[in-house]
Amino acid sequence: MSEESLHEILGDIEQSVRDFTGAEAVLAEAEQRRDRTRQAVLEQVGRLYAELDAIHAPELIGVLRHLYWQQPGIHGRPLAEAAGLHLHDMLAAIGPAPSGILCAHCGTELLRTSRSWKPPARYGPPLCPHCLSLERDTRSRRWQVERLRSRIVAEARVQARAMDWRAAAELVLAFPPLSQKVSRGSSTDQQEGVWRGWENARVVRNRLIASAATSDDSVGVAVDEAQLLVETALRVADWDTARTRDIVAPITREPALALLTRLNREVRATAQAARERAEAAYPEDYEPTEGEENEAWHSTDR
Ligand SMILES: [Zn+2]
Repeated sequence: MSEESLHEILGDIEQSVRDFTGAEAVLAEAEQRRDRTRQAVLEQVGRLYAELDAIHAPELIGVLRHLYWQQPGIHGRPLAEAAGLHLHDMLAAIGPAPSGILCAHCGTELLRTSRSWKPPARYGPPLCPHCLSLERDTRSRRWQVERLRSRIVAEARVQARAMDWRAAAELVLAFPPLSQKVSRGSSTDQQEGVWRGWENARVVRNRLIASAATSDDSVGVAVDEAQLLVETALRVADWDTARTRDIVAPITREPALALLTRLNREVRATAQAARERAEAAYPEDYEPTEGEENEAWHSTDR
């Protein structure tokens, strides 16, 4: 590099740095002037406040509304204080401003209630307060209708002869989960509900014994219990067909698989009929009564 061009570049750098510091000085002066004029605006607001005898005088509120919504450089808190108000009270007095964002449901323009306002869109598109509360009502109503329906389904009973239930239960109980090397609470147990199925069978069997129903008596078992019982029985029935026969034969002459298939059909038909009854009793647009609402909130089953 020649001596001459080196000089030239150094000279240019010097000039650029001078321009830069000059600009910084202008900026600092401008900032100072802005702070001063901002203070002057607040002082004028204070004067207006002192002149008017009512805090909510329309002239004062009009000025505050303009400054708060149109002049973001004038900070909200000092502005409110200059007018003898807390920020919250000032916001209430000047009212909201249009946001340019429309409610996704009814098209009403959403209003900004403060400078830090953000459109309420936590669960989806922005909604106006009215539509938001409607949506909340609908959600909770749907949930209540679901609860009312599921109560009808839970109350439904699958009818079969006592001996049919007894055979299914004894079959499940004959193959305890321990013989399958499944321990209570293990991941296999949690995934397949092996122990739950076994314990359910024990509950059903003990109830049959306590009811002293004779083999041919028709006995109703709750849909959920019946379903779990039949599913578990179907799972173990063909592990050891000879043993299965030995367990079932003294109770009923029907082959195990035929019996379970028939019970399974009964369970499905009963559940289906109960669901249809529930949907008819509580259609999609059903309005729960106050009593039903309370029940839905306070019932602890499922
Ligand atoms: Zn709306």
